[in-house]
Amino acid sequence: MAVTGHATQSGRHYDAIVVGLGAVGAATLCQLALRGARVLGIDRFAPPHDRGSSHGESRITRLAIGEGDSYVPLVQRSHAIWRELEARTGRTLLTQTGGLVLAPRDSAANHHGKPDFLRRTIACAERYGIRHEVLDAAGIRARYPQFALQGDEIGYFEPEAGFVRPEEAIAAQLDVARALGAEVHVGERVDAVEDPGHGGAVAVQTDTARYSATQVVVAAGPWLPDFLGAPARAAWQPDFEVYRQVMYWFDAPGAAADFAPGRLPIFIWMYGDAQEDYMYGFPSADPARPALKVATEQYAVTTTPGTLRREVGADEASAMYASRVAGRFPQVAPRALQTRACMYTVTPDRHFVVDTLPDAPNVWIASACSGHGFKHSAGLGEAIAAQLLGRPGGADLSAFRRPSRG
Ligand SMILES: Cc1cc2nc3c(=O)[nH]c(=O)nc-3n(C[C@H](O)[C@H](O)[C@H](O)COP(=O)(O)OP(=O)(O)OC[C@H]3O[C@@H](n4cnc5c(N)ncnc54)[C@H](O)[C@@H]3O)c2cc1C
Repeated sequence: MAVTGHATQSGRHYDAIVVGLGAVGAATLCQLALRGARVLGIDRFAPPHDRGSSHGESRITRLAIGEGDSYVPLVQRSHAIWRELEARTGRTLLTQTGGLVLAPRDSAANHHGKPDFLRRTIACAERYGIRHEVLDAAGIRARYPQFALQGDEIGYFEPEAGFVRPEEAIAAQLDVARALGAEVHVGERVDAVEDPGHGGAVAVQTDTARYSATQVVVAAGPWLPDFLGAPARAAWQPDFEVYRQVMYWFDAPGAAADFAPGRLPIFIWMYGDAQEDYMYGFPSADPARPALKVATEQYAVTTTPGTLRREVGADEASAMYASRVAGRFPQVAPRALQTRACMYTVTPDRHFVVDTLPDAPNVWIASACSGHGFKHSAGLGEAIAAQLLGRPGGADLSAFRRPSRG
């Protein structure tokens, strides 16, 4: 696979082709179609699928973004767009359970590369007028007795936080795009994207056909690093690393109701100062299968989509339970009901990348969401579509451009 700087004669022509229909690509395709563009979306699998970064039942969403203020307009728009998509499609996408960000009072714990993430979150909520409360341990216990606290914690509570269902959100956006006339090709792999420069049409070569488009958006998620052609690779590739991450659903026998949406908020719990002293979690999104869903993050070992170990060992679930869940959720048992492996595509500063390629000005790279992308994806798709078509609206994406390399 490569993005290169020359094009040969092409078949059908589109205003835009979106390569990869995960969180970012499905949103972009949908928003382009909503704006009347003639669009084609291509994916090597059949989204929503479990091969990339956008599976596993739920993703946290919160409005006060400790990762940086540039993300707040994206997530605000995403919540509004998900509600519009729910009304159009009848699917349930966004469940607002309330959300807690928790840390010991004296901690300045780092999260997603940002020091003192809890206080950054509180400050962001204050700047943007986002409804919230700051609770002490007694206040958290009174509301959520499921958490066994040390007593020195403070918690940021945001009532509009919750979770979005990734598979449903992708399916809804692809349904809407198709209904508006977008072509969606699944099971077709893009092998090359060729931009002649100087405003010429971009050619997209797949394993079965060749197309041309005025502009192309590459939203290939963890496949992005091996997708980039040589000049872009030289400039960008060292910035992208892919990491295996695991989600666990633990049984809460006899206490299922306490781990249902409405009774348990989504949470980010930094119980110590080290990066690994951390977990985040959810109530089960499936009422038929009550559980506590938890995960942490590892940045020690990189992987690739081709070599990812998708099975999760019983030893991994035992270690997760022993190191993080035991003693912090007394009602939760060691039995893992379900486990799933997934991939983060991460930049060193943990920020997104949304930019045209240095040697291919009509090819956008929109991805590398560094493990916090889903909550922003609908707003990101809207902003990319507006910019691509030269239309007003959409959040400002300038913070996500790559610094120019001399
Ligand atoms: C375990 C885990 C937990 C997470 N938790 C959260 C959370 O709580 N909150 C949050 O906001 N974010 C979270 N994230 C991050 C979020 O899920 C990702 O940022 C987001 O899903 C990335 O979407 P994407 O579109 O970039 O990639 P993907 O969804 O992987 O999509 C890429 C697509 O490109 C396609 N593709 C690749 N190469 C080709 C090719 N050559 N031809 C055609 N198609 C191709 C793939 O098939 C795939 O469908 C989490 C991620 C993981 C893994």
